[in-house]
Amino acid sequence: MAIAIRKWSGDTPSQGKFDFGAQSSEICSHSGSGGRNWLLLFSLFLRLSEILYESSMVVNSRVSAKVHSMCRSESILHLTNMVKRLPDDSINSWVPLNASLDELQKASKNCKACDLWKLGTQTVFGEGMPTAKIMLVGEQPGNQEDLEGKPFVGPAGKLLDAALVEAGIDRKKVYVTNAVKHFKWEPRGKRRIHKKPNAAEVAACRPWLDAEIAALHPKIIVCLGATAAQALLGREFRVTQQRGEFLKSPLAPYVMATVHPSSILRAPDEATRKEEMKRFIADLRKILEVH
Ligand code: SF4
Repeated sequence: MAIAIRKWSGDTPSQGKFDFGAQSSEICSHSGSGGRNWLLLFSLFLRLSEILYESSMVVNSRVSAKVHSMCRSESILHLTNMVKRLPDDSINSWVPLNASLDELQKASKNCKACDLWKLGTQTVFGEGMPTAKIMLVGEQPGNQEDLEGKPFVGPAGKLLDAALVEAGIDRKKVYVTNAVKHFKWEPRGKRRIHKKPNAAEVAACRPWLDAEIAALHPKIIVCLGATAAQALLGREFRVTQQRGEFLKSPLAPYVMATVHPSSILRAPDEATRKEEMKRFIADLRKILEVH
């Protein structure tokens, strides 16, 4: 009869390998003295003990490998979660935590979280009463805003003022800001022409917008144009399909998107401009229904 012995050849359960069939032994079955039979039985007992011991090592090593693998999986999961969290937590370390609007505005002057600080004259932070219940969010400052350091003071801002008056909303009770706080532009002759911020720049600047929302606690947020709407409502959001609708959002009790006033300025003719202005005012009037 042959008995295969599994022999452990490593230092630890996770390092070792089993060597199958490394040894065999023959038990002779010839007749002999009683002492010799006892010796054979004792030898057989020893072999069986050894096999049982080594079998338990196999089970232990498998359990150990399983536990090790589970721990490793959990570590990987933990690391993956950390990596997933990292962009949100550290994308803009210039934003102070739990800060007031004043403190945020001061801190934003030094922000270098994306390259737009090199292009713009200065950071153009949000502006308005800290008790404002309405927050209007545009795309980015324009040429005049960049020079003055204030949001919505250029031609689009003047059109917004006029629309707010028509809608019956006091601009002094509105907080206005932008999704991106630096002016992105490209030269055309002597002029600086507006250039749409890209997704990375919008993402880098989003923590400022989040901090403004956290400090202001607005009841109503109105996104003006696709960049602001997509920054706050997701990249799939389409202003053309859902303008003027209040949407469910964790950002505020009432969140809506409409067009940016600069799009009305770019209308191809006077009739279209008038029509677009009417629609814009109608969207803004909805604010009063929930204010
Ligand atoms: S655009 Fe926003 S994130 Fe980029 S540097 Fe200016 S303030 Fe910072």
